[in-house]
Amino acid sequence: MPHDHPDPDRSTDCDTATELISARLDGELVPHERRRLDDHLVRCAECAELATRFEVLDRRLALRTAEPVPDLRPAIFASVRPAVLGRGGWMRPALAWVALVLVVQNAIVLVTGSLGDTEAHLAPR
Ligand SMILES: [Zn+2]
Repeated sequence: MPHDHPDPDRSTDCDTATELISARLDGELVPHERRRLDDHLVRCAECAELATRFEVLDRRLALRTAEPVPDLRPAIFASVRPAVLGRGGWMRPALAWVALVLVVQNAIVLVTGSLGDTEAHLAPR
């Protein structure tokens, strides 16, 4: 066995392997680089784990970007209920009643110019 002339592929260190892993994810590996990386990953558990993590991450990112955003608007609109009067909601009808009373009272004065038997200075002329 020629151990004094190591296979050049066997000299691939972890830094180079990391670069090759990255390049492989980008689809930029030429066949001999791929062989070199595979050869390293077989021997180096650390880089093999790194490669697996990168691939999982890359797949997730790829799914994120490639997945079309579903149109949730119909579902959202369907689930939205009309506004419900919450705390203080009772004030709305009360204020509406007050407004109605004020309008009616002033309308009488504005139309007739007097408040019936009330003294004249209370009513506009
Ligand atoms: Zn390694």
